[in-house]
Amino acid sequence: MSDEPDDPVEGAPDGATCAEHPERPALVTCPRCGSYCCIACWHGAVKRCHACLLRDPLPPVPWADPDQRGAARFFGTLRDAFSPTQTAAKFTRGEWRRGIVFALLTALPIAALSGIIPFTHLLRFGPLGVVAPIGSPSALDLVLDVLQAAGLGLLFGAAKLGVMSAPYLSLTKAYGQPTETQPTRQVMLYRGWLLLLGGRTGLVLGLVIWGLPMDPSEGWQMAAEVLSLLPLMGVLWAMTSTARMARVGPIASMVVVLVPFVVLFLVEPLVLELIRPLLPSSEAVREAAQGLSTNRF
Ligand SMILES: [Zn+2]
Ligand SMILES: [Zn+2]
Repeated sequence: MSDEPDDPVEGAPDGATCAEHPERPALVTCPRCGSYCCIACWHGAVKRCHACLLRDPLPPVPWADPDQRGAARFFGTLRDAFSPTQTAAKFTRGEWRRGIVFALLTALPIAALSGIIPFTHLLRFGPLGVVAPIGSPSALDLVLDVLQAAGLGLLFGAAKLGVMSAPYLSLTKAYGQPTETQPTRQVMLYRGWLLLLGGRTGLVLGLVIWGLPMDPSEGWQMAAEVLSLLPLMGVLWAMTSTARMARVGPIASMVVVLVPFVVLFLVEPLVLELIRPLLPSSEAVREAAQGLSTNRF
């Protein structure tokens, strides 16, 4: 914000205690209201105490901002994902249900697309961005195959979001203090699409592998995996910053994100194992790919 005071933040005097938690030592004097706050009450990213965060108007999430129109609301909300710490404060405003439509607009296409690349039986994606049918399927078979793969992608995406959100929401509730804007629900609705982009089963890795040559070098493989981790780090960072906005302390805000992440890491291979009978075998796809490249050269 333009009126943000740039003055250095002052510490609290020796022996001072937090204005809201008299049992805790104060660390900082809030530059806005002058009250002393403990580390859980201080929001360094927006330089204000928790009371000031709730009292002072902050710009809302662009999607829920009545002053913004159409595409600006959508793309502004996507752009906010690149500054997770600063924009987490926006989740302390507004009504979390407004994020549901945004979540559907982003998560549905990403989940469906991330299913199509690995889960189709009759289309082969890659190497080098090629899409080719496997065998000579009819048009109807192809459409049904792609729809089934997209449906699997949707189910798998919903499972990932559920596995991540459930422990995160209940842990932040246990460690934090409830606010009526439900910032932790907002972060899952406005940033959940990042979870579907990143990781081993995300859309980014699928797209990159589609574009890579047949037997990519180790360097390419490593670059692809690093790239696929970036959206995941983005969502974890946003969830940690938002947990702080829900009054979860600095250390606990890492724990409440780490636990769901570990749960997801453990559950993801099990879910894949469950749907394995519905997936194309990787050997069949590979043979088709080799057949195509020998035909071409
Ligand atoms: Zn204050
Ligand atoms: Zn406090």
